[in-house]
Amino acid sequence: MKKHKPVMKEVQVVSEWICNKCGKSVQADSNDFETDLIHSFQTEFGYGSGFDMEEWSWELCEDCLVDIVRTFQFAPDGFGGEYRTESSESQQQRFEE
Ligand SMILES: [Zn+2]
Repeated sequence: MKKHKPVMKEVQVVSEWICNKCGKSVQADSNDFETDLIHSFQTEFGYGSGFDMEEWSWELCEDCLVDIVRTFQFAPDGFGGEYRTESSESQQQRFEE
């Protein structure tokens, strides 16, 4: 059996997102789905990497994300939204447009 009691805890919440590439800032309390236009990423490096054991995380606004993805030779998986059922060749063709 457990008994519970109310306690006051200080918690950290995101108040602002800042694009690591261009510096665009979005307040967490903004409306109009603006926070949906900031994307969070993280990666970990293992043995053999020059960044062995480092863990990186960063945010990108949608404009900067698209700029980076447009430098890819191949379309990312899932590219195309409502066209998810199309072939990868067709996705790639639209990606290159
Ligand atoms: Zn940006």
